[in-house]
Amino acid sequence: MCGIVGGTSERNILPILVEGLRRLEYRGYDSAGVAFKKNGSISVTKNKGRVDELAKKLNLKANQSNLGIAHTRWATHGIPSEKNAHPHHSKNIFVVHNGIIENHIDLKAQLKAEGIRFTTQTDTEVIAHLIRMFIEKGQSFEKAVFNSLKKLKGAYALGIINKNDPEQIIGARYQSPLVLGKGFQENFIASDVMALAPVTN
Ligand code: GLU
Repeated sequence: MCGIVGGTSERNILPILVEGLRRLEYRGYDSAGVAFKKNGSISVTKNKGRVDELAKKLNLKANQSNLGIAHTRWATHGIPSEKNAHPHHSKNIFVVHNGIIENHIDLKAQLKAEGIRFTTQTDTEVIAHLIRMFIEKGQSFEKAVFNSLKKLKGAYALGIINKNDPEQIIGARYQSPLVLGKGFQENFIASDVMALAPVTN
């Protein structure tokens, strides 16, 4: 079970996310990734391997963002690979997850029957598709997350963003840790207080 860092701030969030991931490295991981708001869209960068390599790929000098979620993965379902690295997405919904969704096989079968195509081997991908499905049925972002959580069995800490609701991060947890960090004009989530020590107490 590895790490999540997310935040929304008036200042550039990307160096904060990368530093947060570095501070979670002690928990062990095989890959890392980040999704961040950029020019009205969501940009995703993933990497199999070290956070330092992810940071290089992210090009911190050229990129700026005020909202993002980041993840270090310790694979439980699906090989360690760039494709299986988080964040996972379904259309406009982007999700990072620590934990295990025990009923993912049943949920996957139900979603496939509704015409959803899966692109990774992870248990996590079902969460993104569930939220999208509820939104497409007319529910608000919050309500869609809430109803998706009701379908999950297992353990989770989640950070979720929506391209169509670009000011908001939703965090949720059950049996996996997730802390909220409040700052001035900025707020954070993380799976461990250590990740947020430089930005809030
Ligand atoms: N079960 C998820 C996966 O295999 C999350 C693992 C984790 O906690 O990093 O991708």
